[in-house]
Amino acid sequence: MQTLIQRTAEALAQTNTAVALTGAGISIESGIPPFRGPGGLWEKLDPMEVAHIDAFRRNPEKVWNLLLKGMQDFLDAAQPNAGHAGLAQLERWGFLRAVITQNIDGLHQAAGSRDVIEFHGTFAWQRCQDCEGRIETPRVDLSRIPPRCSCGGIYRPDCVFFGEMIPPEHLERSQQLVTRCDVLLVVGTSATVHPAAMIPLLAKETGALVVEINPEPTPLTGRVSDYLIEGGSGAVFDELLTRVEKLRPSDTSLMAPR
Ligand code: NAD
Ligand code: ZN
Repeated sequence: MQTLIQRTAEALAQTNTAVALTGAGISIESGIPPFRGPGGLWEKLDPMEVAHIDAFRRNPEKVWNLLLKGMQDFLDAAQPNAGHAGLAQLERWGFLRAVITQNIDGLHQAAGSRDVIEFHGTFAWQRCQDCEGRIETPRVDLSRIPPRCSCGGIYRPDCVFFGEMIPPEHLERSQQLVTRCDVLLVVGTSATVHPAAMIPLLAKETGALVVEINPEPTPLTGRVSDYLIEGGSGAVFDELLTRVEKLRPSDTSLMAPR
C-alpha cells in the first residue's frame, strides 16, 4: 500500500490537472452512512421506495419520514474529515483542479475545496415543487412533514433522485475536466450509480492514471482503475499528503500556472 501511495503522490506532484471523483464513502468517517455496504441505508430501506422520484411524487410524506428527515440530522452533526481536508489541501497547493462529488452533504466546501461540482445536487437547499422557490434547508420547518412552502407546495431537496436527469451543466463540466486530467482519484464510491460511474471510464479512455481509494474493491478494480489503494480515505489521505508535501517545490510560485 505504501508503494501505491508513493506512486500516487509522485503522479500528483507532476500535474496540475488532477481531478477527484468522490462518493458516500469519503463521508463515512464524518458519521454519514453510505447507501451500500455495512451500515448502509439500503440494509434497512428499499431504494426504489425512498430515493426514486416516482416514490417522492407518490408519497412525499413517506420519503421525508424515512430518508430525508434523518439525512438532515446526520448533516447537522457532520464535520469534514481528513479525506475532505486532504483534497482541499491538494487544490490549494495547485495539484488538484476540481472535485466532482456524488455527495449532497456539502463537506468538501466545508473543508475548503473551492471548485466542487455537485453532480447529484445538494441537500443544503430545498425547492418548492409548485413555485420553484428555494430556501436553505436549516430554515425549513421540519416539525410538519412534508415541509411546505408559503405557497402551500411541498419542498423537495435540491438534489437528484433516482429517475431524474443530472443537470446538463454538471455533466458537461465533469466531462471536460476528466477528459483533460492526468490523474483521477476515485474516492469512496462503489461506482454503481450511473452516469457518475462512467467518469472513471472516460478518464481512462483519454489516458489518465485512475487511482481508487476504497477499503474494498469495486467494479472498476482490475478493469478500469490502474490500481486500488485499499483503505479508509482519512488514513490514506493523511499519508498521501505527507508524501506530496515532501515532493513540493519549496517555492510554489515556480509551479506552472493553472
Ligand atoms: P455507495 O454508498 O454506493 O458506496 C460507498 C463506498 O464507500 C463503498 O464502495 C465502500 O467500500 C466505500 N467506503 C466504505 N468506508 C470507506 C472509507 N472509510 N473511506 C472510503 N471509502 C469507504 O456510495 P456512492 O458510490 O457514492 O453511491 C451512493 C449514492 O448515494 C451517491 O450518488 C450519493 O449521491 C448518495 N449518497 C450520498 C451521501 C452523502 O452525501 N454523504 C450519503 C449516502 C448516499
Ligand atoms: Zn412554493
